[in-house]
Amino acid sequence: MLDLTEHSHRRFNPLTHEWVIVSPHRTKRPWQGQVEPASQPELSTYDPDCYLCPGNCRAEGNANPHYSDIFVFDNDFPALRSDIPSGHFDSGSLLIAEAERGICRVICFSPNHALTLPRMQTSAIRLVVDAWANQYKDLATSPLIGHVQVFENRGEMMGASNPHPHCQIWASESVPNEPAKELSSLGAYLEKNASCLLCDYSATETASGERVVCENDHFLAVVPFWAVYPFEVMVLTKQHRASIDKLDDSARAALADILKRVTTRYDNLFLTPFPYSMGFHQAPTDGKENRHAHLHAHFYPPLLRSATVRKFLVGFEILGGPQRDITPESAAARLRELNERHYVDV
Ligand SMILES: [Zn+2]
Ligand SMILES: [Zn+2]
Ligand SMILES: [Zn+2]
Repeated sequence: MLDLTEHSHRRFNPLTHEWVIVSPHRTKRPWQGQVEPASQPELSTYDPDCYLCPGNCRAEGNANPHYSDIFVFDNDFPALRSDIPSGHFDSGSLLIAEAERGICRVICFSPNHALTLPRMQTSAIRLVVDAWANQYKDLATSPLIGHVQVFENRGEMMGASNPHPHCQIWASESVPNEPAKELSSLGAYLEKNASCLLCDYSATETASGERVVCENDHFLAVVPFWAVYPFEVMVLTKQHRASIDKLDDSARAALADILKRVTTRYDNLFLTPFPYSMGFHQAPTDGKENRHAHLHAHFYPPLLRSATVRKFLVGFEILGGPQRDITPESAAARLRELNERHYVDV
């Protein structure tokens, strides 16, 4: 009989319709041994060379205001621009391209250069949540914008060259690949079952508890059954909400709470500022009802065993498909047993 804690197997991701290979026999206890805090250079709260710190000059010569909480600005080197002509390129059936317009913005979470989400006050993270909601709403009103992607790259390992706490928004005309796959699955599931895939998934995980990391009244944080990254986490609204602007006051406070708790557990795992790419998936901003969309966040962290040992997606993973050793259940158990007080403050 198949034993998911012993035997190699593959798990289905109903959001992307992709499979991940799990090889639990390869690493029974990947976190043996004592973890020592990695020596981190103590950052100062202001860096004169940082283009995000208050009062400093950015690339195009624009000076940042002396902001006191949140600061939003248009990216000086945007990947997408709104001032280009629309158009198609179609040379036969194989070489196809089309113009893609968009708006790219940056949100500074705090004027304090040395802070990170887990070390911010929950009330300050709440202001970040409000900024995400306001930006989503604002960009949704533009007839040009069909999708708003909010994401944070944290840590040099994820290519974030500047430690100043910030995230990016890339708002585009079309829905990018990952949310497009998920929205298609969510739509088909709703059609077939007359219920929401992620509402059902959230109920399944709550009932089992096996993969739950932490939760509050409005949000559930789980290591998904089909997680690819060792300590991947998905944060889901418990009540069905299509987008972040639909969260009421208490749900926004709850989102700030769960983000602080998840990221604190991450830092405490290997006693290091935990690198990750994090972002929200929600309803496209195409003016349609989008009943099938269900607000959630994905955390994709690369670390595997320590502050320096990371997972690489190479070889079979690039040519075949993703594979993991430790099971999502054991990763969730490991994250669950951690303290929610940040190791630096203990
Ligand atoms: Zn800074
Ligand atoms: Zn739902
Ligand atoms: Zn998603």
